[in-house]
Amino acid sequence: MNPDTRDSKQRRPVRRVVIVGGGTAGWMAAAGIAKVLGKRLDIKLIESDEIGTVGVGEATIPTLMNFHNLLEINEQEFMAETQATFKLGISFEGWRNVKEDYIHSFGVTGTDHWTAGFQHFWHKGVERGLAGDYGDYCLELKASLEHRFAHLPDNGMNYAYHLDASRYAKYLRRLSEPRGVQRIEGKIVRYTKHEDNGDVRSVVLESGQEVEGDLFIDCTGFRGLLIGDAMQEPMEDWSQWLFCDRAIAVQTEAVADALPLTRSMAHQAGWQWRIPLQHRVGNGIVYSSRHLDEDVAMKQLMSNVEGKALITPRVIKFKPCQRKHTWKGNVVAIGLSSGFLEPIESTSIHLIQRSVVRLMQTFPTDSISQADIDEYNKQCNSEIEHIRDFIILHYHVNNRTDSQFWIAAREMSIPASLQHRINLFRETGRVFRVPNELFAENSWIQVMLGQGIMPRSHHQSADLMGDEELKHFLGGIKSRVDRIVVQLPSHQAYVERYCGRA
Ligand code: FAD
Repeated sequence: MNPDTRDSKQRRPVRRVVIVGGGTAGWMAAAGIAKVLGKRLDIKLIESDEIGTVGVGEATIPTLMNFHNLLEINEQEFMAETQATFKLGISFEGWRNVKEDYIHSFGVTGTDHWTAGFQHFWHKGVERGLAGDYGDYCLELKASLEHRFAHLPDNGMNYAYHLDASRYAKYLRRLSEPRGVQRIEGKIVRYTKHEDNGDVRSVVLESGQEVEGDLFIDCTGFRGLLIGDAMQEPMEDWSQWLFCDRAIAVQTEAVADALPLTRSMAHQAGWQWRIPLQHRVGNGIVYSSRHLDEDVAMKQLMSNVEGKALITPRVIKFKPCQRKHTWKGNVVAIGLSSGFLEPIESTSIHLIQRSVVRLMQTFPTDSISQADIDEYNKQCNSEIEHIRDFIILHYHVNNRTDSQFWIAAREMSIPASLQHRINLFRETGRVFRVPNELFAENSWIQVMLGQGIMPRSHHQSADLMGDEELKHFLGGIKSRVDRIVVQLPSHQAYVERYCGRA
């Protein structure tokens, strides 16, 4: 659509924002908008206790810190309220091959070098028998392996959180209401539209209450009540690359110390997560219904959890897909209503946060302009396509021969953008981050190496180092990492002390 296709006569000033849905997406949107524009806007959030939330989504990535800074959240308070623990990365177990594990950590590996990344020097070291594992040169990775954690000066440790999703939504609600968000409880049963431009005019609750708005933020989860039903924006299906379409989630008692890692344990048709919180553990099995029956998946999950189940396991159906236009007319879809790939790299909460920030950056100066809508959608699409490629990488590059699921993932054709990245790394060891891309070079390198791609060559600047110099260079980084790690307390002890439980 061109900027002028929203006829100026059909434009309305945006003063009333209605957030539809109160899961993680709804309350993050409410908290963000209220903080930035609360003084200028009338903000309402409608949620239905009867419908409830999806109830999963407990592993995050370090970018959440930016959102918390925006909201001026006190970390200790947040962690106590959401029973959060620290997360230094994801442990991928059995992904490359059965019984072969690696960690995708949040840290920097080695040091930065302007011509060539650290991996080139490490590769040279491997070739000459002078280097250890790639992970030996990453503080966060080594700390996570030893289950240690502490805040270090100058943001010396890059981390995220595991959190209780339902407590998080409640916490954000407590921050949002004093900043002017009005919560309405009730089930929306229909909507009305403006005749002139097809925008949503109001939503109507079961009680008969009608809530009018100028801008609607659809956070109704997989239902996609406004973006799907009212605006008829279709989903683009990505299941040709991402086979998993089911999850079964269960919460269990915490019977062991919390690790600063999300565990991702591959099985014959998908993987299983284990997310340690302070008061319990979140578990779930993710699988392809084409390759595994529900009762087998259920048994498999329940035979691989520690501690007593605290809830009845819940089956969640999903489709890996994304809407091309997550902002259409006066409806912006945020959260699961905009699409969902799968939870492997904990990217959904990040995408919610990015959408909220992006919406603030493109917020109508007065009425909604099509140029803003187009820019917003363009940025969303570019971001999600890179994340999609990164996720496909985990499945596609594998050496597993134990099931059709893994063989098919290896044999499928993949997006050209991902094939290029793999070829480039395999041939030269090079990785380039695209502007505004979520995952940095070190994430791509860790996962490509972890899944079994060893580059064939390295940058010539690494050849300029003699053996002694290279040994000294690599050894210096490793000793620094080891020296710091050994002084860190256990993650469990640190969380207890930090959150006032010790
Ligand atoms: P929901 O939580 O489903 O909320 C929808 C809201 O809309 C609810 O309040 C509901 O009451 C309301 N609603 C719906 N219809 C109506 C109606 N008619 N009237 C009134 N209200 C209505 N993300 C991560 O970042 N990390 C993870 O580890 C992670 N793991 C996941 C595991 C699985 C199996 C799945 C499926 C997702 C996972 N996600 C994860 C994604 C994460 O759960 C979601 O992004 C996040 O919870 C946001 O959900 P939501 O708010 O969009 O939807």
